[in-house]
Amino acid sequence: MPMRTPSATTRIHGTPRRVPERTCVGCGTTGAKRSLVRIVRGPDGSVQADETGKKPGRGAYLHSDAYCWSQALTKKRLEHSLKVSLSPSDLAALEAFAEALPSPEAVQ
Ligand SMILES: [Zn+2]
Repeated sequence: MPMRTPSATTRIHGTPRRVPERTCVGCGTTGAKRSLVRIVRGPDGSVQADETGKKPGRGAYLHSDAYCWSQALTKKRLEHSLKVSLSPSDLAALEAFAEALPSPEAVQ
């Protein structure tokens, strides 16, 4: 049986690429920055998902995984990380964002 080589590890010209990593506040493990969703606390104290990754403010990262989001929201890990209390409307918006994420069961 031939070994399977993940194409993601393919390197060009043998130069190792440094992949920026961030820690997910939901599960506490690190992941490639681009596999995580940035959550930003804006200057006005509002908290929202930042899909562009470019909004100003203090940021936290979560895997695009409903499990991580529920951990972050129900255990207040996101609030702790951002040092902010989520307003009901911000919390509702983040929950809605999490609902729209592909669930692991659907992928497998
Ligand atoms: Zn996670």
